[in-house]
Amino acid sequence: MGKLEELKQLQKEIVLINRSAALLQWDLETYLPEEGSEGRAEQISTLSAMVHDRLVSDELYNLLRGLESEKLGDIDAIMVKRLLHDVERERKLPREFVEELSRVSSRAFSSWKKAKENNDFGIFEKDLENIVELKKKEAEYVGYKEHPYDALIDEYEEGMTTKKVFDIFEKLKPQLINLIKKIEASPNYNDKDEPLFAEGSFPKEKQFELVKDVSKRIGLDDSVSRVDLAPHPFTISLGSKDVRITTRIVGDSLYSFTSTVHEAGHALYELNLPEKFEFTVLHDAPSLGIHESQSRFWENMIGRGKSFWKFYFEKFKGLTGTNKSFEEFYKAVNKVYPGFIRTEADEVHYCLHIILRFELEKGLLEGSIKVKDLPRIWNEKFKEYFGVDVPKDSEGVLQDIHWSHASFGYFPTYAIGTIYAAQIYEAMKKNVHDAEEQIEKGEFEKIAKWLKENIHKYGRLLLADEIVQKACGEGFNSDNYISYLTQKYSEIYQLS
Ligand code: MG
Repeated sequence: MGKLEELKQLQKEIVLINRSAALLQWDLETYLPEEGSEGRAEQISTLSAMVHDRLVSDELYNLLRGLESEKLGDIDAIMVKRLLHDVERERKLPREFVEELSRVSSRAFSSWKKAKENNDFGIFEKDLENIVELKKKEAEYVGYKEHPYDALIDEYEEGMTTKKVFDIFEKLKPQLINLIKKIEASPNYNDKDEPLFAEGSFPKEKQFELVKDVSKRIGLDDSVSRVDLAPHPFTISLGSKDVRITTRIVGDSLYSFTSTVHEAGHALYELNLPEKFEFTVLHDAPSLGIHESQSRFWENMIGRGKSFWKFYFEKFKGLTGTNKSFEEFYKAVNKVYPGFIRTEADEVHYCLHIILRFELEKGLLEGSIKVKDLPRIWNEKFKEYFGVDVPKDSEGVLQDIHWSHASFGYFPTYAIGTIYAAQIYEAMKKNVHDAEEQIEKGEFEKIAKWLKENIHKYGRLLLADEIVQKACGEGFNSDNYISYLTQKYSEIYQLS
């Protein structure tokens, strides 16, 4: 067997073990009987260890090093480069370090949960300090050119830097705050919390009917996908022809519907990855940000758009008997409100939540912010950006799971995805001339096809920013995003 064949064989094994672990994970989060969870955790961690051992093995490393200096075809050369990037990162972290990080973060996860339940940051403080120290160490092990945080971002967003993110966020922040102030000053703004549907008017079965309908319309055919209920919505790929999503029913609300549109965007990406890259490192998205751009594109630009609701409003009216008019309904779907919780944020506030977290993470890594001061700094920044006082830490600094999982550098990918989504939406509209008419008819095939040919088809052959550059004519830039928001919300709130 030639070296390249050997490499492909090794990659295939890794992919197959990963997918087997993914199926166990899917089952764990959907149908597993409660008592089965301990045994399941052991099964999954055994498979993860098998993958890790293969990734850091000298066998794979030497194979890659050998191939790196050989003359390969363009695609194979990139495949070797990407895999070497991942392997080197893993190999730079000593085994004792990885074990310590995993020990500290599992302790941190329980103390974070307790701290959040009791609204007491002190319970989490020491563990978080340990995690921050370990993340600083990780950055040193991995290495970086300019900023230690670069090393952490790179795990999720290959090629992105702290400086690029910082520059975009610094520009975006005052623009968002300014737009929010205008909206809040509008006579059409109201901060009353009115439910969209009367209690009991939107039962589970009806919600699930719409969830199935919209996921199918977006392109998740029953023959390659399925939707199930789970405590948290997620997308999971078990094979190139088996990509599954989950949703959650939350009372009589739109949550199951909008979260399904979001996950369907992720799933469509996975289903459209090129078959010729199957079982290699290229059969993947290049970053979390660009993956998230696909879910945000469907959830926000399409799924909260006027054309979309021109199609879906009548269905909702028929099923729930809502007494709202189309205009009232559309406005309610896009209600702007300075809530404390990131995952419930509207489109206009969303990135401010991320900017705040990015500034704190960057400060922690630099050492300019101490863990013990986090609650105070969080609340000060929140007041400055959102104009309201955080009532308690469980709705402030303790709300997200990420830090307890030692996931630093992850938050920016949510905003990067949101910003990319606006760029991609703009480019799509320029190329699919009747996009809005299509959406009004509930037909998404042309749009999905454009996404496949301009975003999904590359797999990991290009970096995220290179794909966006090709599809949109320029890389990471928040101008489209702010003009999209300004235009949409000026109409909704009749701003002058
Ligand atoms: Mg997502």
